[in-house]
Amino acid sequence: TTQVDERLGAAARDFLGRPHQLFIDGQWVDAADGRTFGTFDPATGAEITQVAHGGPEDINRAVAAARRAFDDGAWATMKPNQREQILWRIGDLLDAKAELFGQIEALDNGKSVAIATAVDVAWAADVFRYYAGWSTKIEGSTVNVSMPFAGDKQFHAYTQRVPVGVCGQIIPWNFPLLMAAWKLAPALATGNTLVLKPAEQTPLTALLLGEVIAEAGVPDGVVNIVTGFGDAGAAISAHDDVDKVAFTGSTEVGKLIVDAAKGNLKKVSLELGGKSANIVFADCDFDAAVAGSVAAWMFNHGQACTAGTRLYVEDSIYEKFTQAVADAAAQATIGHGLDPATELGPLVDQDQFDKVSYYLRAGIEDGGRALTGGGRHGDTGYFVQPTVFVDVEPDHRVVTDEIFGPVVSALRFTDVDDAVRQANDSIYGLAAGVWTQDISKAHKVASRLHAGSVWVNQYNGFDTAMPFGGFKQSGWGRELGQGALDLYTQTRSVNIQL
Ligand code: ADP
Repeated sequence: TTQVDERLGAAARDFLGRPHQLFIDGQWVDAADGRTFGTFDPATGAEITQVAHGGPEDINRAVAAARRAFDDGAWATMKPNQREQILWRIGDLLDAKAELFGQIEALDNGKSVAIATAVDVAWAADVFRYYAGWSTKIEGSTVNVSMPFAGDKQFHAYTQRVPVGVCGQIIPWNFPLLMAAWKLAPALATGNTLVLKPAEQTPLTALLLGEVIAEAGVPDGVVNIVTGFGDAGAAISAHDDVDKVAFTGSTEVGKLIVDAAKGNLKKVSLELGGKSANIVFADCDFDAAVAGSVAAWMFNHGQACTAGTRLYVEDSIYEKFTQAVADAAAQATIGHGLDPATELGPLVDQDQFDKVSYYLRAGIEDGGRALTGGGRHGDTGYFVQPTVFVDVEPDHRVVTDEIFGPVVSALRFTDVDDAVRQANDSIYGLAAGVWTQDISKAHKVASRLHAGSVWVNQYNGFDTAMPFGGFKQSGWGRELGQGALDLYTQTRSVNIQL
């Protein structure tokens, strides 16, 4: 990894040279049993560094710290404009350290350093600043109650929106820092305390974020970060002193979390899998639709829950369009995330590589044909070729299953009804794309799609102010925008007889 080290700045090398401990009650501490685990560079398979291996006992310690911090009220009752300033400071610190965060993210996750810096880090900063503003805008209402059985007595009734309490937040490895920001910022703006469990594949930027959080002035115990594996996540979801669990990850693990949360009926919000439809009508702007449709499934190497991996193309342009998509995909520069020329990096680890390789075989076994790609790229690291499957049927595994790699399945449709019917034929309902220059058609189709987000003449059209989440088995609740405030507050109704 000498080559890698040369591409890292001094701050990144300094960070990697320090111990990587758990952040509990404002202190950096070893795991209770002293264990550590390795995190790996997915472009080479080489170990980057060791990280504290938090387990259920560490979750207990972190939850106890979060409980104390919630109950002592220092955070929840802090003046909202002070919370606002602290959250704003986190955003500013992320921007000031963008190069450091971007390099560590690229190294740990495999994504290109340019994307990590311009998208992951910059957007995480934006998310903290957006929710900083909400800190001062959490409002209840006064209610004109009728009180039909109370005669002519008078009342003053109002609602308050109060924090839920101790939140457990479990996040995946595809956007490690950004997913932490989506979880932390709204929880903190509304006065909760929390325990964050980053994914075992990509623990590093969450630890950097812990340093920033301390530097910004978040009181001890409000944010606790426990790096570890699924058993630590399971301990959070089952913990009787956790009031809410927020999870982003696979639908399979989402269901385990719902089961585990039953004990104390903690609130649950879930951002789960997807198999999103991207619908291209013959009347689209052809070149824009090609470029956007490639980005739809190749962005982040296909490791995005919104990836537009079911590409529905209107019959009359199917051959020409799919060929153009395949040609554009084949041109992507594949390489190490820290190489500035890289457009497509490696998958995150051996498990994901094996899973995607399984689907590359399944695509052919089920009767499909790869217009481009279909195999591994190179012989080190976890690279796969961007792959476009045609001649696929609705029941093929590459059409029904979430693959989480740079693999798209292209299908035909005849008209609007056929496109909508096929697009909605999925257990998932996270996102969808529509490409047409007929704006009425775009609105009509959007209103019929069973998807939490619909992007017209663009794909992955996210904004911090737009609620995001899934229909069907893609999740419960909405993150981002005002929607996330509902996840982290509960309503108290107060009714006073005057
Ligand atoms: P992916 O398929 O994207 O790797 P997972 O759903 O497996 O996503 O993992 C997402 C997060 O959930 C990670 O932080 C992981 O450690 C955690 N996790 C895995 N298993 C469990 C579990 N049984 N309970 C709670 N969290 C879990």
